[in-house]
Amino acid sequence: MREIAPGVAVVPTLIANAYLVGDTASWVLVDACTPGNEARLRRAAERRFGRGSRPRAILLTHGHFDHAGSAGPLADAWNVPIYVHARELPYLTGKATYPPFYLKSPGFFTMLARFFPTTTVNLGARVHVLASDAPVPGLPDWETIETPGHTPGHVSFFRRRDRVLVAGDAVTTMDLDSFWGTVTKRKEVCRPPVPATVNWKDARRSVELLATLAPSWIAAGHGAPLHDTAGGLSQLARNFRTP
Ligand SMILES: [Zn+2]
Ligand SMILES: [Zn+2]
Repeated sequence: MREIAPGVAVVPTLIANAYLVGDTASWVLVDACTPGNEARLRRAAERRFGRGSRPRAILLTHGHFDHAGSAGPLADAWNVPIYVHARELPYLTGKATYPPFYLKSPGFFTMLARFFPTTTVNLGARVHVLASDAPVPGLPDWETIETPGHTPGHVSFFRRRDRVLVAGDAVTTMDLDSFWGTVTKRKEVCRPPVPATVNWKDARRSVELLATLAPSWIAAGHGAPLHDTAGGLSQLARNFRTP
C-alpha cells in the first residue's frame, strides 16, 4: 500500500489495483480486485485506518471480476453497501453477462484474458445504484464522472480540488497490449484493456472527457498511479487508436 495524494492510497495486487480513499472519519474502498483478495484488502485498510475501522461503502468503477471480485465478502465482513452505476447492475446481479472478450488483438493481456470469465460475481442485494449526479457515498469532496466504453456503466472518481483521478479501466497506466509493457510495467497512459472493452467510440469519448480534467494524478486499475501526466492523457485522446 502506498499513499499517492492526501487521502488516496493504492493497494496493488497481482492483476488490478484497489484504492483506499478518504480519512479515518469517512473512507471508502474503490474497487475490490479479483476474488480471494479480501484478507489482503482488509489488512491494508486496518493498517491505514486502524483496527476495526469500517468504510462507508465499497465503490466499483465497473463490474469486471478483477475489480468486483472480493467486494461481496468484504461488504459482508464490514456490513456496508456496494455502489455501482445503474448500467453495470445487471452484470453484478446475475441478470446479464459481459460480451465475449475480443481475443484477436496481440498482447499479454489478451493472452491472460483467455483465462478470465466474462461472467462476474453476483453481489445480489448488497449492490446499490450509484447516481452520477448525487454526492459520492462517503466522499463529499469527490465527484462521479461517467466514463462508459470499457463497460456500459463504467465510472471514474475525481477530486477537483487537487485534480486526483481514480480512473478504473477508462485508461491504464501501463501498456497491456505489449508483452514487455506488461512485464516491465513501464509507466505510460494507455487506452483501456483491449480484450474486455465493449464500445470503442464511447471509450474514446471518455478519454477525451478525462483529458479535459487535466488530472494531476491518474490512479487506474492497471499500472502504477501516474503523476503529472495530463500531457500523456491528452496525447492519448488526440491519437486514440481503436483495435
Ligand atoms: Zn475492466
Ligand atoms: Zn481491469
